[in-house]
Amino acid sequence: MNLHEYQARDILRRHGIPVPPGEVADTPDQARAIAQRLGGRVVVKAQVHAGGRGKAGGVKLAKDPAEAGEHAARILGLTIKGLAVRRVLVAPAAEIATESYVGIIVDRASQRPVLMVSPAGGIDIEEVAAKTPAMIHRLAVDPRYGLLAHQALGLALKLYRDMPLARAAADIMRRLYSAFYAVGASLMEINPLVTTSDGAVAALDAKIVIDDNELDRHPDIAALRDPGAEAPSEVQAREAGLTFIKLDGWVGCCVNGAGLAMATMDLVKYYGGEPANFLDIGGSSNPQKVVDALRIITGDPSVRSILFNIFGGITRCDDVANGIVQATQQFRLTVPLVIRLTGTNEALAIQILTQAGFSALTDMDEAVKQAVAKARSA
Ligand code: GDP
Ligand code: MN
Repeated sequence: MNLHEYQARDILRRHGIPVPPGEVADTPDQARAIAQRLGGRVVVKAQVHAGGRGKAGGVKLAKDPAEAGEHAARILGLTIKGLAVRRVLVAPAAEIATESYVGIIVDRASQRPVLMVSPAGGIDIEEVAAKTPAMIHRLAVDPRYGLLAHQALGLALKLYRDMPLARAAADIMRRLYSAFYAVGASLMEINPLVTTSDGAVAALDAKIVIDDNELDRHPDIAALRDPGAEAPSEVQAREAGLTFIKLDGWVGCCVNGAGLAMATMDLVKYYGGEPANFLDIGGSSNPQKVVDALRIITGDPSVRSILFNIFGGITRCDDVANGIVQATQQFRLTVPLVIRLTGTNEALAIQILTQAGFSALTDMDEAVKQAVAKARSA
């Protein structure tokens, strides 16, 4: 789950990391009033679950409240990476001397939280990582001991030669590390971590991604979810109890089981297709789940064919077949459907589908090939 910047800032602030104050507005008038209260120059920032807001025109400095209102009006009309901006954060503008990057991610390769820092922070950090990877310093933290003081200071000295600044940055890194565990994050980033002309260090932007599997343990964090800021298809899927991830391709996939869903996506790519989504209808398939799944997949305009790949174990193929038939009674399918199912109650499922005018396959390769071919000719 993604958090907004203003929510991430609150979390960092609660963990003692210096973050400038700020308030959220959803109208230009509110933004103007906040700027008035804060006094002086402010920065107006789009609150969307996307990075690169600065480059997309979603971060603007304003010299007075009137200009803050104008910037808010413009930013509230933006769509950044497909997400409509509904709110802005208004914060006092910082006088930036330097911009660094500090982040923690869960790293699969080392199976540890990895702290990454770079003195070349700011809006071009992706380019730094690609072109001058030596500018990024990494440390895999042993979770048994946590981030030790000397380790943090060692990394902080890669950012600042000045000892008081390095000590301040080291303190921020240790607080970031404990915040990371405290909320169940899979990623936490401060970019930029700035030094200001008066010699202070502060977090000007914060990004936090929460591991969905941690949400049950952190109801206060789960309550921060903003469904209005998420892709509508992902919200629908969560409410229907489906595991769904929207992708960029054009073959809709409806599969039972995460492993089979991954294998299906691999095979779609192997035969020259691009999966439009990951979708796991789960183990016990009641027909309604299939109806919901089809509704979500058909709602995606880039889908050109839909592939069902069902291996019936606990999932009964006849439940899935009934779901497909019910779905077509409720709404019209405008793209070709390729159905592969095998396993529990396979014969009954094929009978149900045949009676409703569908054909079904039992071979996975054959089904994937057909789904890709039908998408191409659609
Ligand atoms: P992002 O582009 O989505 O990562 O948004 P950021 O919040 O990181 O802002 C992008 C850039 O805008 C930063 O790297 C800064 O250079 C600049 N910026 C953000 N806040 C301020 C501020 O308070 N003062 C100044 N001078 N620049 C800022
Ligand atoms: Mn940033």
